[in-house]
Amino acid sequence: MSALAERKRVVVVGGGIGGAFSAKLLEDSSDVTLIDPKDHLEIPYGQLRCTVQPDFAERSLVLHSEYLKKARHILGFAECASVTEVVTSTGDILPYDFLVIATGSTHKGPSTKAERIKEFQSENKKLKEAKKTLIIGGGPVGVELAGEIVVDFPEKKVVLAHGGDRLIEFLGPKASSKTFSWLKKKHVDIRLHEKVNLDSVSASSHVYTTSSGDSIEADCHFLCVGKKISSSWMQSTVLGENLDENGRLKVDDYLRVEGHSNIFAVGDITAIKEIKQGFLAGKHAEVVADNVKRLSQDPDSKLNVYKPLATPMGIVSLGRRIAVAQLPFGTILGWIPGMLKSKDLFVGKTRKTLGLNS
Ligand SMILES: Cc1cc2nc3c(=O)[nH]c(=O)nc-3n(C[C@H](O)[C@H](O)[C@H](O)COP(=O)(O)OP(=O)(O)OC[C@H]3O[C@@H](n4cnc5c(N)ncnc54)[C@H](O)[C@@H]3O)c2cc1C
Repeated sequence: MSALAERKRVVVVGGGIGGAFSAKLLEDSSDVTLIDPKDHLEIPYGQLRCTVQPDFAERSLVLHSEYLKKARHILGFAECASVTEVVTSTGDILPYDFLVIATGSTHKGPSTKAERIKEFQSENKKLKEAKKTLIIGGGPVGVELAGEIVVDFPEKKVVLAHGGDRLIEFLGPKASSKTFSWLKKKHVDIRLHEKVNLDSVSASSHVYTTSSGDSIEADCHFLCVGKKISSSWMQSTVLGENLDENGRLKVDDYLRVEGHSNIFAVGDITAIKEIKQGFLAGKHAEVVADNVKRLSQDPDSKLNVYKPLATPMGIVSLGRRIAVAQLPFGTILGWIPGMLKSKDLFVGKTRKTLGLNS
């Protein structure tokens, strides 16, 4: 871009992996404002390690002010967007040349890093005091939590209740059955086809009723079901018509929201037909940042095309050394995929991408 070229105003909504990476990649060339209700990026891959080891959160929660050197951060929610500006819960009206929407899942809970660390400490206390823990949900979050507990606290009993007919359904049946066997060997009591009725439990009884009428006794539970997509704020705006039936934004090949030349979307909020993963949110951010730079220079620029991931890939960590991985050449469980993910859960790698020490 020529030194005299005008710096474009870019508003990025959402400070998860997709939004944080987009803001970082664009802050040198544009005037970037990031809107996020937290003062930090929570590297999601590290979340369950923080439950068994709260000090892990010192590195896996990264203040937006730590990695953003030029971009401005507004601590709040985007409440409304038009084709020219975004209105926030703090009352700010932010005019933009380009808008990047990265509001993957809804945010509930603390807005500061310090409060989030306290939350992990109290979850850790709850876990340490419990002899028997019930995990509700056998997707990647529930399975990773079970793995963390059985490795760090082998003396504790774990029950894993899952409504579906196999664990980690986002990967293929091989990954599910290998994971099932590994958890069984670690004495996890796995209950498939079981939904837990949380209204049934009282503080004094600690008995949970399931959809089949069974009861599970446990000292505490962790709810590990998927979070809701954060798109309700767009429903009655100009972007409402671009939401699909699941509340995701329909985008074109260049990751522009359909019908809008200057509004992009990245990460879990997109309706791209591929697995929803943080590493893909990062790839979306690269394509979008590049396209914003190209359009800033010349509105008629040829744009970069995003190629969706054809075959689902993923690594689910099982404690500190082992993981199960579905990769293009096959599905394996053991220390080889564990070396890729389980020790540091991609925290150092993510921090490096943001220009920080690992
Ligand atoms: C425990 C766990 C382990 C995982 N492991 C892996 C892994 O190993 N590899 C992998 O690739 N993926 C993994 N994932 C999936 C990955 O984390 C998600 O795909 C990724 O976080 C999506 O990023 P995102 O930026 O699109 O959305 P999110 O991370 O959901 O971020 C959305 C952001 O938008 C903010 N927001 C919401 N609404 C608003 C609003 N109205 N205004 C402003 N801000 C708003 C939220 O506060 C949040 O900061 C894992 C997920 C979890 C939970």
